[in-house]
Amino acid sequence: MDLFEHEARDLFARHGVPVPPGEVTSTAAGAHAAAVDIGGPVVVKAQVKVGGRGKAGGVKLARTPTEARAAAEAILGMDIKGHTVHKVLVTAASTIADEYYFSFLLDRANRTWLAMASAEGGMDIEEVAATRPDALVRRPVVDMDLGQAADIALAAGLPAAAADVIVKLWDVLVAEDCTLVEVNPLVRTESGEIIALDGKVTLDESASFRHAQRPFGTEVSDPLERAAHAKGLNYVKLSGDVGVIGNGAGLVMSTLDVVAQAGGAGPANFLDIGGGASAQVMADGLEIILGDADVRSVFVNVFGGITACDAVADGILQALGMLGSRATKPLVVRLDGNNVKRGREILVEAGHPLVTMVETMDDAARTAARLAAQGA
Ligand code: GDP
Ligand code: MN
Repeated sequence: MDLFEHEARDLFARHGVPVPPGEVTSTAAGAHAAAVDIGGPVVVKAQVKVGGRGKAGGVKLARTPTEARAAAEAILGMDIKGHTVHKVLVTAASTIADEYYFSFLLDRANRTWLAMASAEGGMDIEEVAATRPDALVRRPVVDMDLGQAADIALAAGLPAAAADVIVKLWDVLVAEDCTLVEVNPLVRTESGEIIALDGKVTLDESASFRHAQRPFGTEVSDPLERAAHAKGLNYVKLSGDVGVIGNGAGLVMSTLDVVAQAGGAGPANFLDIGGGASAQVMADGLEIILGDADVRSVFVNVFGGITACDAVADGILQALGMLGSRATKPLVVRLDGNNVKRGREILVEAGHPLVTMVETMDDAARTAARLAAQGA
């Protein structure tokens, strides 16, 4: 999970990484008040989880509180690459002597952590990596002390004083269970201080249980994702119009593939109901999938294992009963596996008007895509 810049800087501050004084606000009046508190020139920065805010006009220098108010008025509500700005961070403006790039990230391909550093800071680092690979130092690391940090700083052309900040950024990565800690730019001010002027942090969600006290990073923005999470289900929003329910990650992934292959708009979302497929779980799953306004048909793809197909079929019918008038979209059901014959019989006998039974995955995907197109 990615954090907002202001959340990342809170983590930085907690571990002693120097950041400029600042306040977060959602109003122009709040930005004025923050500038008064901070005193002197400030920078007003859009809080969106996307890079390139500066180029998009989402980072503005303000010399006075009045200018800070005007900057916040311009930035709040702005759309940056599809992200609406709801909050701004107002920070004391720094006088920059040099800008650098520094990050620690999980290098999955090489099964290690990677330190990346460059004296070409403030720039798009992907561009530096592509056009001037020599300007970007990449070092596999497993731990960090002042000596190693000084080595990396020297190799990349960062000042020796950056080593101390590098060690503290490593502390952030380890203590906060991050998969990415990125500072771009890390700056040297005219008075010689090393300060993190921007921060991007990705948390490892598998470790969230260790950070229950954290005041942020627990909010899931999508209400359906939140509802699924509360019920212990894995729901992911996609861009098409066929809702997908399956049991088990492998089956769900291949279901997405066949739905995409079937043409049409593709999957609208997916929900993995896991190994069990009880009536309650099926009802919870259907309720979430049908709560997505983009869904025009639902493909239920279940392979009966420990929960046999007859129990799954009963579950689907009971779920439709529980949902009543809230179930409005056609359901294409493909059942296979343990006790499949009886499971199919149950659905055929019930003859529910919303349910279409299809034997193979490919046919079911095509049927769901066709029904979605008809319902559009
Ligand atoms: P990004 O564009 O989303 O990466 O946002 P940043 O926080 O990195 O800000 C973009 C650019 O604004 C930085 O690279 C700096 O050049 C500039 N900037 C940000 N804060 C300050 C500041 O306090 N003083 C000065 N002079 N420039 C700043
Ligand atoms: Mn930046």
